Amino acid sequence: MTTAERSKLLTISMIYHEAAVPEYARGREILDRFAGAERIVVPSHWNIPELHGNADLVSEWNTVKRTVLVLGVKKGLQIRPFYRSADFIAPSTANGCAMACSYCYVGRRKGSANPITTFVNIEAVSDAIAKHAAKQGMKLEPTQPDPGLWVYELGTNSDLAVDAMVSDNVRDLVRLFGELPNAKATFATKYVNRDLLGYDPQNRTRLRFSVMPRGVSRLVDVRTSPVQERIAAVNEFVDARYEVNFNFGPVIVYDGWLRDWAALFEEIDDVLSPRAKQQLAAEIIFLIHSEQLHELNMHWHPKAETLLWRPDLQEAKTSQMGAPGLRYRMDLKRGFVRDFRALLAERLPYCTVRYAF
Ligand code: SF4
Repeated sequence: MTTAERSKLLTISMIYHEAAVPEYARGREILDRFAGAERIVVPSHWNIPELHGNADLVSEWNTVKRTVLVLGVKKGLQIRPFYRSADFIAPSTANGCAMACSYCYVGRRKGSANPITTFVNIEAVSDAIAKHAAKQGMKLEPTQPDPGLWVYELGTNSDLAVDAMVSDNVRDLVRLFGELPNAKATFATKYVNRDLLGYDPQNRTRLRFSVMPRGVSRLVDVRTSPVQERIAAVNEFVDARYEVNFNFGPVIVYDGWLRDWAALFEEIDDVLSPRAKQQLAAEIIFLIHSEQLHELNMHWHPKAETLLWRPDLQEAKTSQMGAPGLRYRMDLKRGFVRDFRALLAERLPYCTVRYAF
């Protein structure tokens, strides 16, 4: 990644931070890293009215993501059980994102702006994970996320490959999991940050590159690494001792969608090394949208909504967390999932599927 590419994604000129941030070594490191940025002390990282509550900022959605950083201290360190990509969800070390995928649910909860918030108490987060893993003992029965190790999801609220441009939190977590005898980390990403190649993950971090057909990605994956770059990076990350899987998704349905996925699978088959193919698995997630996100997107990226907003195919659903959303109608979706899985099994027979929904 060149300096120009980095600064296109992040050129921090404004930092909102809680007063306690400089008391933490990680906080001081980050403030030093962005020493030229203006600083504003705020009572809470979560409630910054001039940022999250400022409706005028929606039209500056991507500028805010590039130029603003929020620093805070993570209060709740609970570890929640999960069952899809991981056995547990670790406390997050960041939320928000410098990229701007138009289907991203992180933006749904943060009002009018969604820049990166980084938490500086990484030692407390690491301790909480280590203690939790120690209590689990060895994994005696396989689960969907992994046959032999307890898997902790690190990236539910941010993209860790970009978070790693802000601080060493990700490096610390990758190192932690390299030392735990019974656990591995996992996170999904749409960004190729080759700094991570130097982290020595010891096959205890499962990185999931999220991919979708190129033409669709160009429209909805705003500010991410191009899909072909993510696919081309897989072999390097496998050689650097990451487990590398794919997130196929969000799968978006339109005329010709399966034809485009077939082309993507062909590209993957051409590019991946035998070693990468041998360890490959995938998670498949069909698009979940929402009315609230649709309205937000219409202010800054209406073109993407021609693909995402399909009332003719979608129906209301409520997430496990109680949030309203829109999914493809179940009577149609069953067929979509079946067709997708059949195509994948035909084109990439070595790719196991962890789940599809
Ligand atoms: S990369 Fe992930 S967290 Fe970032 S905007 Fe896209 S979906 Fe959201």
